[in-house]
Amino acid sequence: MMATDRDYYDILGVSKDATEEEIKKAYKRLARKNHPDVSKDNKKEAEKKFKEISEAYEVLMDSEKRARYDRFGKEGVQFEGGNFTWSDFTHQADIEDIFRDLFGGFGESDLFSRIFGTGTTRRRRGTRRVAVGENARIRLNLSLKEAAEGVEKKIKVRLFEKCEHCGSKGGKITTCQQCKGTGEIRNIQRSIFGQFVSISTCPRCGGEGKVITEPCRYCHGEGRIKKEKQISVHIPAGVETGNYMTLRGTGNVGKRGGIKGDIIVDISVKENKRFTREGNNIRLRVPISYKTATMGGKIEVPTLDGKVRLTIPPHTQSGKVFIIKEKGIGSLHGGRRGDELVEVYIWAPRRLSKKAQKLLEELDKELKSPPEIK
Ligand SMILES: [Zn+2]
Ligand SMILES: [Zn+2]
Repeated sequence: MMATDRDYYDILGVSKDATEEEIKKAYKRLARKNHPDVSKDNKKEAEKKFKEISEAYEVLMDSEKRARYDRFGKEGVQFEGGNFTWSDFTHQADIEDIFRDLFGGFGESDLFSRIFGTGTTRRRRGTRRVAVGENARIRLNLSLKEAAEGVEKKIKVRLFEKCEHCGSKGGKITTCQQCKGTGEIRNIQRSIFGQFVSISTCPRCGGEGKVITEPCRYCHGEGRIKKEKQISVHIPAGVETGNYMTLRGTGNVGKRGGIKGDIIVDISVKENKRFTREGNNIRLRVPISYKTATMGGKIEVPTLDGKVRLTIPPHTQSGKVFIIKEKGIGSLHGGRRGDELVEVYIWAPRRLSKKAQKLLEELDKELKSPPEIK
């Protein structure tokens, strides 16, 4: 994550000459407000804020760092890895103090488990952690016509499916001896601030409380096997390259009886050699003969669904655009379909027969010259 660019004093809402006591007070107030398990904001946002105020607190509570920050700004207080991480934070004891009455000490909050390295998926007692399968991303190439009209596509994917051989259990299961089935290990830690209990995920069973003693020989204990599968995806009209669709709960199944992740379909629309897309319209350039341009006539024009006849009125100049309504791209939001824009230009033949040359010379004498540019 990028280091925060806001001023540390602003972040904590204190003045430049705030005392340590004032800084502590401000931090305490903000920490309580932004703690991800308490805050009304979303968890990620709250965690970001919590980290931001902690970074400011770390610097401003250290008189030496604070002096350098005052003189040189953030340049003066580089953290070890460049940006502030929780391993740079030296005031765990203060946080413990702040939240003692809220959570009854360390280890009761998911955030603390995460930031102070006590395992990322601490399970709550009595609930089993269910593995969620990985999302699968697939790329889908569509023709312009398919994007314009929508299409039902069948796609082959290789996904983890339940292992039938072991009933997705992964093999013979027994209670983990290391944690006695609780999935966690408690450590008493002593520091100069006192003693606290930290809880970490059991390394033997990875927090599941159970271990596989005889892994299934088909899935090697995963409880799932990769299989090829065909899925059907309905693509609505109007999609374009960069759009994606999330098919919830249709992806890889999680390990040992877990639930399915998602399939994410990345859409890519192939270039069309005839038509260029302009939003929901498509544009096509069509050559017409000199005679048709001057005297009018009918031409055949391709569209995404077959040819149509188009009337060219007399006295049509190159660059004139005719609109064929609703032959463009369907609307993703349910509005009307876009149009086809037919841009005509007068075609000049490359080779002329002697006769054609002579006739043209005669014709040129007969016609008026083009208007002068004013
Ligand atoms: Zn265990
Ligand atoms: Zn199996």
